[in-house]
Amino acid sequence: MSEILPWLQEAIAHFYPASTYAASIDPAIRQRAATRLFLPPKAGAQVICPHCGASHAAPTGLDELLHFVCAHCGNSVQVAPPKIQ
Ligand SMILES: [Zn+2]
Repeated sequence: MSEILPWLQEAIAHFYPASTYAASIDPAIRQRAATRLFLPPKAGAQVICPHCGASHAAPTGLDELLHFVCAHCGNSVQVAPPKIQ
């Protein structure tokens, strides 16, 4: 829990540097946030089989899920690449 607030403050300072809240954050945190890398979620994000609606849990360690065979219905599913914001 104690790691959430500093991470959130860095994320706000990184993505919304001109916001009122970012201006109120400690300058050291804002400086660190400027160069911190924020990565998109790993493949563990929830993926739903379009054939049967079952969720697919990607094995850990994968950076990107491109294709899988549904364990519930056996159909193959191609996964669209995640949108980078
Ligand atoms: Zn399925």
